[in-house]
Amino acid sequence: MADIIHLLPDAIANQIAAGEVVQRPASVVKELMENSVDAGAKRIQVIIKEAGRSLIQVVDDGSGMSETDARMSLERHATSKIRKADDLFTLRTMGFRGEALASIAAVSQFEMKTRQADKELGTLLVVEGSEVRRQEPTAAEKGTSIAVKNLFYNIPARRNFLKSNPVEMRHIVDDFQRIALAHPELSFSLVHGDELLYDLEPSKLAQRIVGLFGKNYQQQLAPCSEETDLMSVTGYIGKPESAKRTRGEQFIFVNERFIRNNYLNHAVAGAYENLLPEGTFPFYVLFITIDPKHIDVNVHPTKTEIKFDDERAVYAVVRAAVRQALGAHNLSPTLDYTTDINLMTKVSQTQALSREQYLDEQLGSGLQRSNLQNWEKLFEEERPAQSALFGQAELAASERTSMVPVPNRVPVFQLPSGHLVRPAKNGVMIIHPVAAHERVLYESFLRKMKDRSGSTLQSLFPQTITLGTADFTLVMEMEREIKALGFEFEAFGKNTLVVTGMPAEATGKNEKELFEGLLEQFKHNQATLTVPLQDNLARSLARRAAVKMGQALSSEEMESLVERLLASHNPNYSPDGSTTFFIFETSKIETHFR
Ligand code: ADP
Ligand code: MG
Repeated sequence: MADIIHLLPDAIANQIAAGEVVQRPASVVKELMENSVDAGAKRIQVIIKEAGRSLIQVVDDGSGMSETDARMSLERHATSKIRKADDLFTLRTMGFRGEALASIAAVSQFEMKTRQADKELGTLLVVEGSEVRRQEPTAAEKGTSIAVKNLFYNIPARRNFLKSNPVEMRHIVDDFQRIALAHPELSFSLVHGDELLYDLEPSKLAQRIVGLFGKNYQQQLAPCSEETDLMSVTGYIGKPESAKRTRGEQFIFVNERFIRNNYLNHAVAGAYENLLPEGTFPFYVLFITIDPKHIDVNVHPTKTEIKFDDERAVYAVVRAAVRQALGAHNLSPTLDYTTDINLMTKVSQTQALSREQYLDEQLGSGLQRSNLQNWEKLFEEERPAQSALFGQAELAASERTSMVPVPNRVPVFQLPSGHLVRPAKNGVMIIHPVAAHERVLYESFLRKMKDRSGSTLQSLFPQTITLGTADFTLVMEMEREIKALGFEFEAFGKNTLVVTGMPAEATGKNEKELFEGLLEQFKHNQATLTVPLQDNLARSLARRAAVKMGQALSSEEMESLVERLLASHNPNYSPDGSTTFFIFETSKIETHFR
């Protein structure tokens, strides 16, 4: 019997390989763009027609190819990037398999123009289904231009398998974004039909992110960087309040190659811990740099899978990097205590004196002076108790910004009327809890809007609020400020908002009531006061979020409230001028007894 095994003709072998490399138009965009990056291009233009069905063209100003190389580049396993198996472990280029061009040319009408800088003429190659139709010298710009027309024209089954144009275009944009993010130092453009979708100048990473995702990302980014012997992590993470309900804007790159790795996504998500509302996903762009010998990218032809030799170590470093970034920017309520204390020490030294003077004045000069000097030690030993009125985040934030000596605990009592009573050197201090709380909240909200540090309490059940058109417009105009206060909300259809989180200080309030109350109060103030917008917002929210008269408070809440009142800029009055406390002097008490 005759032998029956034979080698497949190249055209068919390439078509089979193409099944793996070229799944859809976006795969072509990715392979061609990566080749341009590898070729040292500074400027890469991508031109798409009909979501890549009729045309995918990538034009670069990179090295170009000689006539022989141009021809060779279309052969399977033809690559300039590795020579021997060992090279796989020192890889610094995107490509290395030498399959992409051969595969693409097998399933399209393919045209390449390429010229090296030192040559006068370039080369034109026209290939159809792996068959070279034309090869000739041609005038060409320096670099390479590859046009892929009618992808899958010769494999109708694959062509029919393509999704709608919007879906295919989404995939193209995804791949474009990944490569543009990985190379902010290069310029990129993307044109679809006659629409210029992106035109990106060389820039820093932060600008590139803004260029790709929009201006509102500017305020939302916290830099992230961590370096260990094994690897480094750099990039940006989105502040928790910018988290989206859809997964997707999450990018991890390893040695500039975009990768998918759920394990590492989990490391990032874990670092955010309870900072994110259920079902929301943070934005991040993280670059891991690691010696190629610790990774294996040769797992899948499309190369977005990756293996690390010590995946757990990588996980730990990524997590630590993100935690650090969250802490360093005061985004996390569970701040690292050691980094925090330094911050407080600096601020407190400048403020301790005035605070001391203030206490002297208000409460009598004998107040445990020595304790004032020991406040730092005291503070280290005794973290303020968690309070329902003032969450840990709130305490931490107030301590950072106006850290003052914490004298020995002075007990505070609540009268049946709701008023608070506290011993003072020269008498009894009587405090109006509502006015006092309003003062404290007002200053805290002002500060938060200033440094956009509002801490958010995630809602268990997001609530929708429908407003009149004017109110809705007003809210959207103040979106940034309201969010800086700690509210979390999104526009949700016409004149409707979905509120997913509220300021941590407002524990116990209903978010819908609070939000609507804020708006009501804001409008009321607008009609009666002439104060700047931020001031009005802080006042309005303080009014609505403050405790109610007669509300029972715990000892910690009362002590914390009084401490914070005395530490505020203007402790004597609420923002609208009501008295917050007075001292019933010992001498007056005495008159009642004789
Ligand atoms: P790989 O990128 O894995 O090497 P490809 O099939 O994508 O394989 O490309 C084959 C070769 O063609 C590359 O190794 C490179 O030498 C050359 N090449 C491809 N695209 C370009 C380009 N835009 N500019 C210069 N050379 C290119
Ligand atoms: Mg390649």
